[in-house]
Amino acid sequence: MTYALEVNGLDKSFGSTNVLRHIAFSVEAGSTTAIVGPSGCGKTTLLRLVAGFERPDAGTITLGGRVVAGAEWIPAHRRSVGYVAQDGALFPHATVAVNVGFGLPRRARTRARITELLEMVSLDYSYASRRPDQLSGGQQQRVALARALAREPELMLLDEPFSALDAGLRANTRRIVADVLAKAGITTILVTHDQPEALSFADRVAVMSDGRLAQVGTPREIYSAPIDVPTAEFIGDAVVLSAHVEGERARCALGDVAVIANGVQGEARVMLRPEQIEVTADGAGVAGSVVDVEYLGSEMLLGIRLDTADGVVSERVTVRRFGATALTPGERVGIRVLGTGVAYQQ
Ligand code: ATP
Repeated sequence: MTYALEVNGLDKSFGSTNVLRHIAFSVEAGSTTAIVGPSGCGKTTLLRLVAGFERPDAGTITLGGRVVAGAEWIPAHRRSVGYVAQDGALFPHATVAVNVGFGLPRRARTRARITELLEMVSLDYSYASRRPDQLSGGQQQRVALARALAREPELMLLDEPFSALDAGLRANTRRIVADVLAKAGITTILVTHDQPEALSFADRVAVMSDGRLAQVGTPREIYSAPIDVPTAEFIGDAVVLSAHVEGERARCALGDVAVIANGVQGEARVMLRPEQIEVTADGAGVAGSVVDVEYLGSEMLLGIRLDTADGVVSERVTVRRFGATALTPGERVGIRVLGTGVAYQQ
């Protein structure tokens, strides 16, 4: 298999700060990968190394089978890589046509080619004479993408390109961008700190934590079988309870629960997603009281404090409830687990 990108043993420090530690991963040609992780974990640095804006201290980067960092050093402008930054970084005083044309060789800066590139990002030629400040944020991002596409890169790097947009525009721009890149068959890496964006945009998700890659997998794997509790908590809402695991079952405050044990046995922790816990219609199941309600429109997140027999430890769990009647704090409920949890070592 030839990968569009292979990264091996990548280290990078700024001064005494280790920003990246032994990063290794591969990206298949034509795929979309999202890199997610908390602020400051090194996502942008990793992208800048791949683009060629920075040199690694150790390790290799291979693009389309060619070493660009390591034994060889190929500078950014000679890598077939497009880069779209958070703010698009358009030239503020230049028109859209000039901005897009910047990505093209001089003789290819024709009206026909610029029209074609603008149409790829769902803008017509009437926008060509506008300046960036005469465009909406989403349109600016699409122009930035058109400029990056003009170079016909094999790999497109998107560094939080939607983060400055409001929710509606963000979803819409994301769909347009994903569609353009898929149609053009361009391998794409998206950096984001928005977990739902990573899960919806990408074929594969790489979770970074403190300069390391914690886990790489499909969105479903990352969400339903996170490698550890911090990853589980980073990628979505998580209910984590003390448990005793035997085989593929865990005894915890929510009763006897099926788990993916991954070899974990005995005293452990079990993680469930809030949509794997339901409030029973007849009050059956584990008893508790609603302590808080977060209303989210199509769904609500209920905080439920479980009753305890000994009155000493009282676990609080979060339950996701879709489109049902509202519950209010203080109400008594019964809850039960629907799905399979994941067990982790204590
Ligand atoms: P965010 O989500 O907030 O953009 P990030 O995960 O992209 O964060 P980076 O921008 O890669 O993180 O930064 C990682 C760390 O490296 C931070 O602590 C940052 O301060 C540091 N850093 C990045 N670039 C430099 C630089 N040129 N010189 C010194 N330190 C840097």
